[in-house]
Amino acid sequence: MLNIDTPIQYVKGVGPRRSLLLGRLGIKTLHDILYYFPWRYEDRKDLKKICDLRYGNRETTMGEVVSAEVITTARKRMKIFELCVKDNAGFLRCRWFNQPYMERYFKKGQNIILSGVVKGNILIGFEMENPDFEHLQDEDRFIHTRRIVPVYKATEGLTPKQLRTLMFNTINSYVSSVEDFMPHNILQRNNLLSLEKAIKETHFPEEFSDVDALNRGMSPGQRRLAFEEFFLLQLGLALTKKKEVLEKGISFKDKGRLVNEFLKRLPFELTDAQKRVLQEIINDMQRPIPMNRLLHGDVGCGKTVVALIAMLIAVDNGYQASLMAPTEVLAEQHFINVHKMIEALGVKVALLTSSSRAKPLSEIAEGKREIIIGTHSLIQEQVVFKNLGLAIIDEQHKFGVIQRADLRKKGFNPDILVMTATPIPRTLALTLYGDLDISVIDELPKGRIPVITKVFFPGQKGQVYSLINRELTKGRQVYIVYPLIEESERLDLKCAEEGAEAFRKIFPTKRIGLIHGRIRQEKRENIMASFKSGDIDILVSTTVIEVGVDVPNASLMLIVHAERFGLAQLHQLRGRIGRGNHQSYCLLMAYPPLGEDAKRRLKVMETTTDGFKIAEEDLALRGPGEFFGTKQSGIPDLKVANIIRDTGLLEASRKEAFALIDADPYLKGYPLLKKELQRRWMGRLELVKS
Ligand code: ADP
Ligand code: MG
Repeated sequence: MLNIDTPIQYVKGVGPRRSLLLGRLGIKTLHDILYYFPWRYEDRKDLKKICDLRYGNRETTMGEVVSAEVITTARKRMKIFELCVKDNAGFLRCRWFNQPYMERYFKKGQNIILSGVVKGNILIGFEMENPDFEHLQDEDRFIHTRRIVPVYKATEGLTPKQLRTLMFNTINSYVSSVEDFMPHNILQRNNLLSLEKAIKETHFPEEFSDVDALNRGMSPGQRRLAFEEFFLLQLGLALTKKKEVLEKGISFKDKGRLVNEFLKRLPFELTDAQKRVLQEIINDMQRPIPMNRLLHGDVGCGKTVVALIAMLIAVDNGYQASLMAPTEVLAEQHFINVHKMIEALGVKVALLTSSSRAKPLSEIAEGKREIIIGTHSLIQEQVVFKNLGLAIIDEQHKFGVIQRADLRKKGFNPDILVMTATPIPRTLALTLYGDLDISVIDELPKGRIPVITKVFFPGQKGQVYSLINRELTKGRQVYIVYPLIEESERLDLKCAEEGAEAFRKIFPTKRIGLIHGRIRQEKRENIMASFKSGDIDILVSTTVIEVGVDVPNASLMLIVHAERFGLAQLHQLRGRIGRGNHQSYCLLMAYPPLGEDAKRRLKVMETTTDGFKIAEEDLALRGPGEFFGTKQSGIPDLKVANIIRDTGLLEASRKEAFALIDADPYLKGYPLLKKELQRRWMGRLELVKS
């Protein structure tokens, strides 16, 4: 019996050459091949009579070999193998191109089952090209026909049929030796198949023969496999969370002088939601275990203030606090804002990005800088903190479980607060941030007027300019955003540069600024500061302003080529306006032809400003895979499970996983499960390494 981790090369029927081919499909071990599932299924159970075949359909039929011969075309000298079969009511001609060796497989009088796309018709005769076939005498093991047939993604050098045969043989030889790592009572409670059965039925369905359900991923075997994926994911998250609870963290005292002074100077009162969330954070900070909390809420709901207060609490208690942003521009913006808000309190703030001029590393190490704002540079090796007590990660999408662990190592179990600008659907929060406690700011500051959004087409430029003019005349400011063109940063700049030129001509008396990622940091800071202080009327930019920029007097945003932006991004961009007490306008300039998805996105933007609704739509449009890229988030791949379709399974598996970890935090009673958990998380989970 082979071990489940045996390299694929040693599996019967594979060998060195095929193992290379399989490697291309991501199949490296016996485990991998058992978990290499079909991407779709075909129902080839019904055998049609030849005369009942329908043009264009994929059908399965049976006939007796009448002739089998290789012919060579006159012109191109191509070899075609031609097979002719008959049943009692018709003839079928099949062709295989450039495969003269096929002749060996057929003899006159044999009964053959054939499955393929039908061409021709009853008058000119039926035909199939490259059909799958099987000889009738193999009756005990139909693989390619006369059953629900799995279709696998194959690769050059290994045909779908060869791969299917290999899958069939491998499963039959080895599946009975896989041990089910799922606790028995969990399987029972959730009505799930055993692993052996689930694998068998998902590859070669026998008992469960509803091809539509299989294609939708809803068969009992697939359910079990989806559950197990979610379960192992949630188990890892539960462990991560448990580990933190078991560790000693900092117990901060109450709010002190700084926070009180800060609140006194704040020109507005916190919303109820901000107060509630702040209290949740303070409770965490006071507990002697590390905080691990996600703070989310719509753009403009006021997360930054809350974060700042939390940082001041840390500083009040003699610790350093850090705020990490995903881009330099955002880090700079935070730095400017924070600096301005707390300068008077005497707190020392530092900015640390890869392009910062002076890197105040020694001052950070000596604790002379109390709040440190930066990009990923913050978690680089050479950055040493004196006593990091609170680490805040802003606008994170690119920050997964693993990066959070890196950050934690920078201090003695600092409290961690993750903030995301995009509201996240609940299922996604449970998947991506399942190890965190969650706080939501579900209320915007009073007096906000929802932004009016409208789509325009190039023919309507006149209208757009007069709307811009109207706002400028009122003393408001305007953003004009150009898309990021992935393939070429230069092209992207050119668009924005030409755009700025054009607007200079249209509004010759207005002051126009241009900002993009290529401009040096110093200059960028100046431009942003001028826009903020009102010295620039129109800010033309690439998407660098996507997050974090805060200029309440800006009341109009024109997004050029809006059809190229994703929903989350459009929502983020739009969040830059509507921050003051003026009615704001978001104009989406779209260039036809528009695809269906683009039309839908623009429609969604026109009809709602609710970030949660937009996030749901986004998830539905893009699908979970693209929405959150598991690779960068460090969590295991979901191959069978789908967080949109399988929310019920997700919730159930989460409940089971967290209950299990509560009962047995080190999984002592579950060695098999522990091993599988390690495998799925590829050794990235610390607690279960032993
Ligand atoms: P987010 O980071 O959640 O998108 P910000 O923290 O940038 O939002 O806040 C958006 C704007 O609202 C800022 O100008 C901020 O000063 C302001 N703001 C925050 N909280 C309140 C409040 N309670 N009342 C009025 N304005 C607020
Ligand atoms: Mg923000």
